[in-house]
Amino acid sequence: MSGTFVLTIDVEIDAGKKWRTSNPASYEGVYTGIPRLQTLCDRYGVKPVYLISPAVMVDARSVDTLNALDPGRSELGAHLHGEYIGPGARFPGPDFSGCDPAEMQCQYEESLEFDKLENLTRRFAALFGRKPTSFRAGRFGARGWTIDCLQQLGYTHDTSVTPHRNWHDIADFSRPGSLTPYYPSLDDICAAGNSSVLEVPVSITPDLKWLRPTPRFSDLAQCLQVIDWYEQNTAPTVLCCMFHNVELVPGKSPYCATAADCEAMLERIESIFALLARRNYRFKSLSEVTANG
Ligand SMILES: [Zn+2]
Repeated sequence: MSGTFVLTIDVEIDAGKKWRTSNPASYEGVYTGIPRLQTLCDRYGVKPVYLISPAVMVDARSVDTLNALDPGRSELGAHLHGEYIGPGARFPGPDFSGCDPAEMQCQYEESLEFDKLENLTRRFAALFGRKPTSFRAGRFGARGWTIDCLQQLGYTHDTSVTPHRNWHDIADFSRPGSLTPYYPSLDDICAAGNSSVLEVPVSITPDLKWLRPTPRFSDLAQCLQVIDWYEQNTAPTVLCCMFHNVELVPGKSPYCATAADCEAMLERIESIFALLARRNYRFKSLSEVTANG
């Protein structure tokens, strides 16, 4: 049996233990983390989608690094952390040293959420030469209205839904409508509906195991359990793995403090790629995923 595998990477400014941004602001997770990951992906034909935070779009060298990637082997998409982009940015930038991102876009007034998404989409297009079609909400803070905004702005794919997780009763995915790709309702992101944006949920089991190879998050055995569970319980099987670029460099995320942590993470990622290759998975970018896999 063969499924589809999508690797989704939230591309963030370097951070410390609790996601407060580096001070002074740094971008090693882009400069060195992404090239290391891309080299590994290229060996297996995995096509990562890099979902880029507005806190990264202010840094010219980061933009150059992302623009240098081969679009046939990867995809660039957008990732909203609304405090970093107007209107009404809590941190107006462009220096984001020592910021503490906490906002979830589903808590904004609808018009403010739309305006921030529109601004992010415009900035992306100016920097990367085309409109983004793939999106993830910061802190997974998406709702039906988010899908409506994305649809109006020309997006085709979203990956903000984290099935079975309830984030502080603000974004509640504890009763997922589907674990396979679906077109959500504009009123309820968890329910199937008539939108034109394909939702590709992150792979999480009912007992809250993630396909997330982050040290202290899911070890390799747990990742393999998620893969097996999805193969047994979903059809088509579409695995959506997520982590952050900043986990691939030491001391730039809450998860990987040392070089050994980063090495262990890369080994775990490679083990997952190798297993999926043996099982004849199709490796797709997010925008290549369809409702059929
Ligand atoms: Zn993020």
